[in-house]
Amino acid sequence: MKKKIAILGSTGSIGTQALDVIKSNPDLFEVEVLTAHSNGKLLVEQALEFKPNCVVIGDEKQYDSISKELWAEGIKTYAGKEALKEVVQMDSIDTVLTAMVGYSGLEPTIEAIKAKKKIALANKETLVVAGELISKLANQYQVPILPVDSEHSAIFQCLVGEFHNPIEKIILTASGGPFRGFNRAQLEKVSKADALKHPNWEMGAKITIDSATLMNKGLEVIEAKWLFELEPHQIEVIVHPQSIIHSLVQFEDGSMKAQMGLPDMKLPIQYALGYPNRIPSDFERFDFANFSSLTFEKADDKLFKNLALAFDALEKGGNIACALNAANEITNEAFRKELIPFLAIGEINEQVMHATEFVKSPKIEDYIQTNELARQKALEIVKNYQA
Ligand code: NDP
Ligand code: MG
Repeated sequence: MKKKIAILGSTGSIGTQALDVIKSNPDLFEVEVLTAHSNGKLLVEQALEFKPNCVVIGDEKQYDSISKELWAEGIKTYAGKEALKEVVQMDSIDTVLTAMVGYSGLEPTIEAIKAKKKIALANKETLVVAGELISKLANQYQVPILPVDSEHSAIFQCLVGEFHNPIEKIILTASGGPFRGFNRAQLEKVSKADALKHPNWEMGAKITIDSATLMNKGLEVIEAKWLFELEPHQIEVIVHPQSIIHSLVQFEDGSMKAQMGLPDMKLPIQYALGYPNRIPSDFERFDFANFSSLTFEKADDKLFKNLALAFDALEKGGNIACALNAANEITNEAFRKELIPFLAIGEINEQVMHATEFVKSPKIEDYIQTNELARQKALEIVKNYQA
């Protein structure tokens, strides 16, 4: 039986690579749903090639033109945010790959879990915003959350056969991004174009900037807490510029396991879709002859303060990580629009976090409100930056 996959965010970096994986394994996977936010043109191309049951376009203005192009093929078209929450519940879907960017992943993921769909989770922001709620729901509905993020996939792979053995700690590796080793004076001058040049990974614009600010690693620390049920002191970050060791687990006897490979997101995507089976692939193989050394260094969380803010948010708990994520979605975009300088991203995120009213055990309404208020606050500060 082929697994029927819904890809939320099929037009993005993860989405298109997931389609490559599916295309290479036509006996194993079938596309059931494709969704995009505004790139209707690519969504239609993908739908004509993969023949899903339906597509969803976020931008409702494109509904007419897309449905005209797909109707004769028997592919249904839906539009808008609510449609996304409904399609994930379709009986025919086995696995929902959440590959959209940012907070937009939260509500569709909740609906998919409630409909008992396996979640292949790329959209880390969902766990950052509401990790406690998502974990609770996943337990309640007995739904596996299979990590797609390369570091978390690495840890997940290291834990196969070890689920009864407690974890002492995990070590998340970070490439360090394009500004590794920069000092404050250098960081004051970096541009959007500099930040968009990631040394090892080709990714969407938001996560590429998050990698440059180390916010991405901060988000991953929070993601790891919820995926692997860890305390903050059990999570370490180490900079490993070659991105070959994707992360490590240390057990109670001191033994460490790592997962390695060339940086290629198709591997963790395929592992999550194929789990528990490994699927043969022709992905390029690692060759020791090309890597005379693998190096490691400490992350500078004073200068790249987003990493420290993420640990702080984990310690505080409640709705604080939700506020940090919301602030970061605004500051990340403001930097991409060249409205604020690079170092302002962390500074504004910190101000918003500190201004957030603490809610100890948030419900979904509290997350929605915290997200709204934190965005407004961040926008206000961004506007003053311009003045
Ligand atoms: P992209 O920006 O490349 O793609 C995002 C996708 O989400 C697109 O299909 C986009 O549609 C859609 N989208 C954008 N905004 C919304 C919205 N408001 N509602 C619904 N859909 C939306 O991002 P990436 O593929 O790089 O990243 C996706 C997720 O995966 C992120 O959470 C990221 O952190 C995570 N991730 C990504 C990695 C990577 O290598 N890229 C690695 C590890 C994790 P449209 O094209 O129409 O705008
Ligand atoms: Mg990652």
